[in-house]
Amino acid sequence: MIRLIHLTKQYGKFTAVDGIDLEVPSGELFGFLGPNGAGKTTTFRMIAGILRPTSGTVEIGGIDITRSPLEAKSRLGFIPDRPFVYDKLTGGEFLRFAAALYGQQGPAVERRIDELLELFELTRWKDELTESYSHGMRQKLIISGALVHRPAVIVVDEPMVGLDPKSARLLKDLFRQFVDRGGTVLMSTHTLEVAETMCDRLAIIHGGKIVAHGTMAEVQEQTSSEDLGLEDLFLKLTGGLRDHQLDTILEA
Ligand code: ATP
Repeated sequence: MIRLIHLTKQYGKFTAVDGIDLEVPSGELFGFLGPNGAGKTTTFRMIAGILRPTSGTVEIGGIDITRSPLEAKSRLGFIPDRPFVYDKLTGGEFLRFAAALYGQQGPAVERRIDELLELFELTRWKDELTESYSHGMRQKLIISGALVHRPAVIVVDEPMVGLDPKSARLLKDLFRQFVDRGGTVLMSTHTLEVAETMCDRLAIIHGGKIVAHGTMAEVQEQTSSEDLGLEDLFLKLTGGLRDHQLDTILEA
C-alpha cells in the first residue's frame, strides 16, 4: 500500500507538487497521468526516497519513508523513466549488486537472477557488459533489478517506452499478476490506451495537483464527461489542443 499525505515539493519558489493526497491499496494497479511537467516524476522520486518532500508524508506499507527509510525502501521496487545501469558491470553483476543493496545474496538470489533474466530473454547476455545492451535490454534489466528483492510495491515511471510489443505485453501480464497476488503498482504513462486497459484506478495530475481520480467511470462522472474517452477527458482537464495556433504555424 502507498499513502501520500499532503505531499508537496517546492524547487525554490516554484511548487512542482502541491499537496497531493492519494492512497493506492494492495491489489491495485494505479495509473498516474498528467502532461509534461505536471509533477509525476517529482512525486515518484519522493515516493522512492530519492527526493525529500518540502512537506507532507509518504508511507510504503504503512512505513513513513522519511522516518524509516531503509524499512520503507525494502518494500519498494522503483523503476525510473531513464534506465541507468553501470556500463562496466555485466547484467548478472548488476542484478547481484541490486540484490546486495537490500542485503540479499547467496544461492536463492542467484536462482532469482537467472529466473528474471530468463523471463526477460536476457539469459545469453548475462555475462556481457551492459554497455553493449540496447535501450530496451537496459530497460528490462532495470525492471529485473527492481524486482530482484521481491518488493510488495512497485513504482514505475513510463514503463513501456522503448519496449518491443512482446516485452510490453510481458510487463502488462507481470504487473497484473503481481497485483492479483496482493502487490501494489503505481505507474505513470503518457500512453492513455495503456492506462485505460491496464489500470484499476487512475489520477490525472496537472500543475502539481490531482484534478481527478478514481475508476474511469468515476472520473467521467466527477467531470460530467460520461460520453468522453480518456484522451478527450485528459485534454479537457489539462488544457485542450490549440487549433488556431496550429493554423498559424502551418499557414502557407
Ligand atoms: P514529464 O511528463 O515531462 O516527464 P513530469 O510530470 O514527470 O513531466 P516533473 O519532472 O515532475 O514532471 O517536473 C515538474 C515540474 O518541476 C516541472 O515544471 C519541472 O521543470 C520542475 N522541476 C523538476 N525538477 C526540477 C529541479 N531539479 N529544479 C527545478 N525545477 C524542477
